[in-house]
Amino acid sequence: MKLVNDEGFARALDDADELRAFRDEFLFPKGVDVYLAGNSLGLQPRRVREYVNQELDDWAALGVEGHFHARHPWLPYHELLTDQTARLVGALPSEVVVMNTLTVNLHLMLVSFYRPTPKRFRVLMEASAFPSDQYAVQSQVRWHGRDPSDAIIELSPRAGEDVLRDEDILAAIAREGEALALVMLGNVNYLSGQKFDMKAITRAAHAVGASCGFDLAHGAGNLRLSLHDDGPDFAVWCNYKYLNAGPGGLGGVFVHERHASTDRPRFSGWWGHDKATRFKMGREFVPLPGAEGWQLSNPPILQLAALRASMELFDRATIAKLREKGAALTGFCEFLVRGIRGVTVITPAARGSQLSLRVGPRAKALSAALKDRGVICDSREPDIVRAAPAPLYNSYVDVFRFARVLGELMEAT
Ligand SMILES: *Cc1c(COP(=O)(O)O)cnc(C)c1O
Repeated sequence: MKLVNDEGFARALDDADELRAFRDEFLFPKGVDVYLAGNSLGLQPRRVREYVNQELDDWAALGVEGHFHARHPWLPYHELLTDQTARLVGALPSEVVVMNTLTVNLHLMLVSFYRPTPKRFRVLMEASAFPSDQYAVQSQVRWHGRDPSDAIIELSPRAGEDVLRDEDILAAIAREGEALALVMLGNVNYLSGQKFDMKAITRAAHAVGASCGFDLAHGAGNLRLSLHDDGPDFAVWCNYKYLNAGPGGLGGVFVHERHASTDRPRFSGWWGHDKATRFKMGREFVPLPGAEGWQLSNPPILQLAALRASMELFDRATIAKLREKGAALTGFCEFLVRGIRGVTVITPAARGSQLSLRVGPRAKALSAALKDRGVICDSREPDIVRAAPAPLYNSYVDVFRFARVLGELMEAT
């Protein structure tokens, strides 16, 4: 389709958008004209309040009996999210669980899947990984008595380039070979918006005998994922970015079926214990098969309730259609901002619904000025503005207005 830089054109695209009604399922902050920060914190679905209130009412009315007699009994409550989560990330239901938060889950996975030996101890990750992922991996490396500067191999783009080349990732895996214990990448990268070829990377990692895991903080609810078929050993993500679970919302975990009954070490808690005998309170831990076996505690029901409201919307819209719209929205955004002097799009074509724009040293001031004009996106040091058109609630007119205001501000400075 030939794109046109015109609000009427954007409006026509919205009129033709079969997902446009989902926008009405969300609450938009007061005074905000355009919200493009769903990669940081997704908006609140209207029905969150009802779903959370249901549990507050049941708690008030039933006390401890709510575990069994709430309208949605709390004991198996997390299972209400299992099928939807599995569909969302392309996994078997037994391969996923909603629990804890992202960095906690990353640690739990590293405990099981980073098992260094004297010969095989290295971890391959991105130099521009999200800091929490770096802290987690560094601390695990130290906890195994190793030096991060020796054990962690960081991937950087080639000189003069902004994003990693897939072939360079694969070459680094081959080069580390038998020294490589784990490949641990984001997908997509939070800073550049780059999506990696999960299947090829997983295959390359396994070919040298390494484990492979992905941080899908910016992938879950954004990309169309096929975790089971692509075959990484584990993946972790948060549900509060594209998935709208609310600030500090629960995380998600994928453990591939091949590890369903693993005897790898893990940190254990009673909620990972066999359901049939959990309340016999025996001394010996018998893990549930699959991802649920990594659960520690009985989960926060109010957080799960909030997440349900959003996951139902994803299920209705389907991730396939959302990805299609996300690609179109992001493509329209790219088309518009490419016409603005002083703005460089660093996000490559392999991406989800995020554009990272290099705007020079005034990135922070620029995102503040955008906010003053009712446009919410964010900046990352030193020179990047990130804009994420979320296909569940963003429109083509949103993208048009963002680009128009950005253009005006770039002209003015
Ligand atoms: C958002 C994000 C985090 C945040 O971690 P929490 O444990 O949820 O606070 C970690 N890693 C990546 C890649 C992220 O994008």
